[in-house]
Amino acid sequence: MLKGKTALVTGSTSGIGLGIAQALAREGANIVLNGFGDVDGPRELVAQAGRAAGIRTGYHGADMSRPAEIEAMMQYAAQEFGRVDILVNNAGIQHVANIQDFPVERWDAIIAINLSSAFHATRLALPAMLAADWGRIINIASVHGLVASAQKSAYVAAKHGIVGLTKVTALETAPTGVTCNAICPGWVLTPLVQKQVDAKAREHGISNEDAKKLLLGEKEPSMHFTTPEQLGELAVFFCSPAGDNVRGVAWNMDGGWAAQ
Ligand code: NAD
Repeated sequence: MLKGKTALVTGSTSGIGLGIAQALAREGANIVLNGFGDVDGPRELVAQAGRAAGIRTGYHGADMSRPAEIEAMMQYAAQEFGRVDILVNNAGIQHVANIQDFPVERWDAIIAINLSSAFHATRLALPAMLAADWGRIINIASVHGLVASAQKSAYVAAKHGIVGLTKVTALETAPTGVTCNAICPGWVLTPLVQKQVDAKAREHGISNEDAKKLLLGEKEPSMHFTTPEQLGELAVFFCSPAGDNVRGVAWNMDGGWAAQ
């Protein structure tokens, strides 16, 4: 379905971004990966997912908190692949603390990586998408883009912000073949959430399994984690012809979290 298209997925060396990159690769899209840590392993997983479709992969290590590096990444993608047809703004970090104790440097980093990076990547991707009259921008927000939790001020502010940015992008592109939507996951068991599971286990002196149940039980009525594979399938739907007129939605996949 996506043969000949190129998708750039920020923060795709791990977790949700990697799951989405694999799902888009399976549909035949070339993939530009981005993110820190091991690159060869994730890149091979994406290449494997797209092998039957004959996709190409690329990688750029831009730090998404730095606009100049985001610009270099977009230039790299255009040079290597012609243009970015699908942009998945996914890179994100978390920090948990009460507002009065929240380190200012962590606030700035979360706003830069979880929110401002999406603005920069979007503004740089849009001209080529509009010229081609086709494009998909998928912002990985969170259920925290819809509701709040204590001790997550920067994260909740950034995620509410990205839901707002999604709506504005969708309105500005509404008469065109470019769409913009947000995905709002509940708990997904990635390294970002495992840190919170570990903190719960330490705090209560309980096992890893019991800490997961405690975490789910506080917020997610289904008592199941959403998987990166499931989120990948939702991203594929947004890229499909059936998604042509889905614009500006914030689609939660959260086990009923926001329904309460
Ligand atoms: P993760 O820690 O597994 O992956 C984060 C990715 O972002 C990694 O590839 C990492 O290298 C990259 N990254 C971090 N800082 C970066 C930077 N400055 N520049 C470039 N890349 C950077 O986390 P995840 O759980 O897969 O989270 C992905 C996105 O999904 C985030 O935006 C997160 O807020 C969102 N999300 C996660 C959950 C969850 O339960 N895990 C729920 C809702 C939303």
